[in-house]
Amino acid sequence: MKLSNYYIPTLKEAPSEAEVVSHKLLIRAGMIRKLTSGIYNYLPLGLRALNKVAAIVREEMDNAGAMEVLLPMVQPADLWQETGRWDYYGKELLRFNDRHGRDYCLGPTHEEVITDLVRGEIRSYKQLPINLYQIQTKFRDEIRPRFGLMRGREFMMKDAYSFDKDEAGAEASYWNMFEAYKKAFARIGLRFKPVQADSGAIGGDFSHEFMVLAETGEDTIASCKSCDFAANLEKAKVNAPNGTCRCDEDIPALEKVATPGKHTVVEVCEFLGTDASKVVKTLLLVVDEKPVAALVRGDRELNDVKLRNATGGNDVDFADEKLVRKLTGAPVGFAGPHSLPEDVPVYADLELCQDTDWIAGGNDADTHVKHLSLGRDCNVTEFVDLRMIEETDPCPECGQAIEFTKGIEVGHVFKLGLKYSEKMDAKFLDENGKEKHLVMGCYGIGVSRIVASAIEQNHDESGCVFPPTIAPFEAAIISLGGKDEAVNAKAEELYAELKSLGVDAALDDRKDRPGVKFADADLIGYPIQLTLGGKGLKNGVVECKNRKTGEKGELPLENFAEAFQNWRKQVWADWNLKL
Ligand code: ATP
Ligand code: MG
Repeated sequence: MKLSNYYIPTLKEAPSEAEVVSHKLLIRAGMIRKLTSGIYNYLPLGLRALNKVAAIVREEMDNAGAMEVLLPMVQPADLWQETGRWDYYGKELLRFNDRHGRDYCLGPTHEEVITDLVRGEIRSYKQLPINLYQIQTKFRDEIRPRFGLMRGREFMMKDAYSFDKDEAGAEASYWNMFEAYKKAFARIGLRFKPVQADSGAIGGDFSHEFMVLAETGEDTIASCKSCDFAANLEKAKVNAPNGTCRCDEDIPALEKVATPGKHTVVEVCEFLGTDASKVVKTLLLVVDEKPVAALVRGDRELNDVKLRNATGGNDVDFADEKLVRKLTGAPVGFAGPHSLPEDVPVYADLELCQDTDWIAGGNDADTHVKHLSLGRDCNVTEFVDLRMIEETDPCPECGQAIEFTKGIEVGHVFKLGLKYSEKMDAKFLDENGKEKHLVMGCYGIGVSRIVASAIEQNHDESGCVFPPTIAPFEAAIISLGGKDEAVNAKAEELYAELKSLGVDAALDDRKDRPGVKFADADLIGYPIQLTLGGKGLKNGVVECKNRKTGEKGELPLENFAEAFQNWRKQVWADWNLKL
């Protein structure tokens, strides 16, 4: 591409609303423009990067045996009513009516549509397994669209769905996609990690998120420094400490103490001169409209995903003030696990059985209790893993030290089991002529989010640093010829040569000053920059620069192709990529 005729509206400044670096740079590099909140136009350079990501993802899906389809973005409500998600999905689902008043939504995901398609087509086990995927625009009316392409309302996703005849097949399909994801993200040139994620009601080890490692990530990953354990924080298991249960130890009788105006654990500990690790924190929640009490140590945080899984519920919310009063007879801040109504289940974190003689809320205004025994004074329904893992906790798998890192979720593989096929009655005939429900999996990749996360992971003060596989152009030839026709002609020649070598190259033949061209090249982040000026031409060399390492060198104009390809290999190797 010759840039003299190309639309590259680079900017010196990013709009003030752009908070994260990828958002700022995508706008400054002339790759995207905002239309409205969470909805962006892709300009030529941005679209090139997006298409390259999509092409790699497509190839790896095809290599893994998945077949591309294209499903409608507009989906009728009745399919969503069949699965119950019309009510359950909430406000992220953008709903609207057609001229006949019928309900529709814009697809935030396609489980319903694909299951509907397959149930009408697949009849026999002989047609299984199959895996269908698409690369398409999704719409989610996110509560907080932000960070440009990282969390848009309209965004590009690859979503795949597998259908198998049994569990074993579904598991094989799952790991097949898992491997395909590893290949795709490696080819894109990202540093990433698959991490265990919450698999909700399905259970087991069948939900992984693929995280791009970047300090600016919204997600926190707990990973082991010794073994290959890595999990999203909400999923990371915490094992019970090795001690014995002390719940039934003999301790002094429960005693009320006045704690006027002391609501928080910190305030209570300060007032009573004790440590948060001696306090039982009682959290009152509502799980699927029923009240539940969750107990964690005063210095710990409740993990609501673990609570949801322990209760087998769907929706977890904190109890409002009115409900807290009803359950405890006290204002918020004084709930305790004793004397709660009998029909309120009490889930206690595993470590709570390993100590006793607790301090807890008194279920009375301005009151706490001392000498609480969970065995004697409370009706604990179950001791389960309920708390958030902390960085000082040991690895739940090997016991060694762990660390927290930040990540951006760019992909998710998930076993669905029979969740949709049962609700939508998607069946096939097995080897014995018996009707069975299809066993499903779903697999998403945030194609547009990858473009942003590549920048989050790779940038410097001058701009984007794109991996060669997804850069808008892999190489730019910056011609400093100006009015020097010999230089211009040689630059054209180099450009033709790069193209003949299969390099996706741009020729910066714009009339701008060299400084402008250099700044734009760094801002856009072409991995390879070749600069040709009058002096170089005279000396028979072109200057080359590796955007990632900043290293500069010279390549001979004579036998250019061979020298270039050798150097290019090194540039790719710096990205852990093979040419
Ligand atoms: P998140 O927790 O970030 O909201 P999610 O769990 O809703 O993600 P999935 O439903 O698993 O995401 O979607 C598959 C992939 O689509 C995600 O891994 C992510 O890369 C991408 N994605 C999801 N929501 C958005 C969004 N609002 N903007 C851009 N990409 C998104
Ligand atoms: Mg989401």
